[in-house]
Amino acid sequence: MKGVKTEVYEVIIIGGGPGGLTAGLYTSRARLSTLLIESALFGGQMTTTELIENYPGFPQGVTGDELSRLMEDQAKKFGMKTVTQEVVKVSLEGAVKVVQTYESAYRCEALIVSTGTEYRKLGVPGEKEFAGKGVSYCATCDGAFFRDSQIVVVGGGDSALTEALFLTKFARELTIIHRRDALRGTKIYQERALASPKIKFLWNSIVQEINGDSTVRSINVKNVKTGEIKEVETEGVFLFVGLVPRTQFLKGVVQMDEAGYILTNEDCETSTKGILAVGDCRKKLLRQIATAVGDGATAAFAAEKFLELKE
Ligand SMILES: Cc1cc2nc3c(=O)[nH]c(=O)nc-3n(C[C@H](O)[C@H](O)[C@H](O)COP(=O)(O)OP(=O)(O)OC[C@H]3O[C@@H](n4cnc5c(N)ncnc54)[C@H](O)[C@@H]3O)c2cc1C
Repeated sequence: MKGVKTEVYEVIIIGGGPGGLTAGLYTSRARLSTLLIESALFGGQMTTTELIENYPGFPQGVTGDELSRLMEDQAKKFGMKTVTQEVVKVSLEGAVKVVQTYESAYRCEALIVSTGTEYRKLGVPGEKEFAGKGVSYCATCDGAFFRDSQIVVVGGGDSALTEALFLTKFARELTIIHRRDALRGTKIYQERALASPKIKFLWNSIVQEINGDSTVRSINVKNVKTGEIKEVETEGVFLFVGLVPRTQFLKGVVQMDEAGYILTNEDCETSTKGILAVGDCRKKLLRQIATAVGDGATAAFAAEKFLELKE
């Protein structure tokens, strides 16, 4: 194994979104030696959210970037260590958990997994070829490239609606393509999207192919009721068709459901002693910042109890 570190942390946290940062705040404040491993940006999915209106304490809303920065600063204040690496494997050496990245391997007594989810791919021809050339999964990251453009948003849930509403700031015209005849998202987002003069809808429709040359030019859309296929001109395709948990690296180590969400009890404990899971990567009713933060606090406390009682 490459670069194995000899130090055994009391707690390792994988993933620095709101769940992981809250767990880190609690464990480091409880004076447990804590390492947080994050592969990208601290804040997780919050960093790609323009405005957060439903996190308590911010009556005017707060930008995703600002809330990420505040949570990161607060977690680091109590001495939590961090590294920017991607975890590729977890294994057990008796009671010790070995967390392997591409560069190194770290060891701990209690492990908190908070790796969240990633966007589901549509899996149609053209999606891979035009990723970053008109195909996007992040409105906050790429919206500004589509100023005055004609674009489509695929999906009918909360992510599709909030991202579509954000994109109306830039786009000249925006069409939401949804495979059903009604939206699924929260009522307030549905009302805003349906009332927006810039947003049109293509119901009962699925994207079959994305076409273009150096960049996206059009998509082929099939009406699932009539079977009719038509070509729709567009300069950008924003895809929000669901999420998948980022738990592949834990296969065989803890129990998961068929979709890959980690199964836990209400204290965030998994089927393996000393491994806890928090936030969007675990099977739960509501995946939001407020619930990820609650999980993070619970798991940190459960980890502390586990460490106290393990002898
Ligand atoms: C477009 C959009 C808008 C949203 N708007 C809102 C909103 O307004 N209000 C609200 O409450 N919620 C909102 N949410 C949901 C909210 O962002 C999530 O519920 C929350 O971020 C989940 O937190 P988490 O810590 O579980 O995971 P995440 O925020 O997903 O963080 C997981 C972190 O783990 C890291 N990671 C993953 N795999 C690895 C690995 N193998 N090694 C190392 N690091 C890894 C990732 O890089 C990421 O930083 C929104 C989500 C999206 C996508």
